[in-house]
Amino acid sequence: MGRILILGGTKDARLLAQLCVDRLGPDTEVITSLAGRTRKPQAVAGTIRIGGFGGTAGLTDYIKNEEISVLVDATHPFASTISNNAAQAASKTGIPRVMIDRPIWGLPTELNVTRVPSLESAAATVKKRGSKNVFLTTGINGLDVFGALTSTRFVVRQIEDHEGSPPFDGARVIVQKPPFDVTDERNTMSAHGVDTLITKESGGSATEAKLQAAADLGIHVIMVERPALPAGETVSSPEEALGWISGALGS
Ligand code: NAP
Repeated sequence: MGRILILGGTKDARLLAQLCVDRLGPDTEVITSLAGRTRKPQAVAGTIRIGGFGGTAGLTDYIKNEEISVLVDATHPFASTISNNAAQAASKTGIPRVMIDRPIWGLPTELNVTRVPSLESAAATVKKRGSKNVFLTTGINGLDVFGALTSTRFVVRQIEDHEGSPPFDGARVIVQKPPFDVTDERNTMSAHGVDTLITKESGGSATEAKLQAAADLGIHVIMVERPALPAGETVSSPEEALGWISGALGS
């Protein structure tokens, strides 16, 4: 018996919500929280709440007011603000917290990859290497750092058709939804004459195919490394998270 708060926005979070609803019984309420970035979020088992909490203080209040028993941080590896807020809110309220730390990708051996710590460093690497046609697959936030690179053409992949202008002058936007397969990724990169792929080190099977496609086509990859997770317990899959939750709830 208890109330589980899953911080979501990922496939792992959806899988975990389904596992909890299926396996933990009707006395356990499963609440998944979404930031509200996507207009039509996919269906999630259990209860959904949408929108920011208002920083660490807001999340702390939510945990207290809603009498949350355990907190699962199943957010994307690059969503570091909410992960740090979750760590602090769990510490203030004394509830158990676990993070799903999804495994990083195993890279094709023939892949030509440069690791960088940030999008700014990725932009500096594009400039240094004189890349001409860059495929940006890092999401739509923070792309203004590429705006000054006027000798480079950028194709920006979005998963939703956001209205409004491209993220910076000269960027071409394509809308494609994961999961992607290697053939489709090769076709996309070939069609746009891509010489460089920029990706976050997200991990996960849905977006992994681009690495094999880049290796097949001899395309250079600039990989933005993950931010550090806050200290705390981790599991590597929704199934492991379910086991951890059962232990924390004593069920
Ligand atoms: P972020 O930088 O860590 O968070 C920014 C703010 O968004 C947080 O301070 C929080 O607002 C709110 N927020 C984030 N996740 C939330 C959640 N699950 N429930 C309620 N509020 C949330 O996060 P982000 O990188 O913008 O990512 C936003 C969401 O998209 C995350 O849930 C993440 O799982 C998902 N996502 C991110 C990426 C990525 O590349 N970053 C990729 C795929 C999916 P308050 O401070 O007001 O609480």
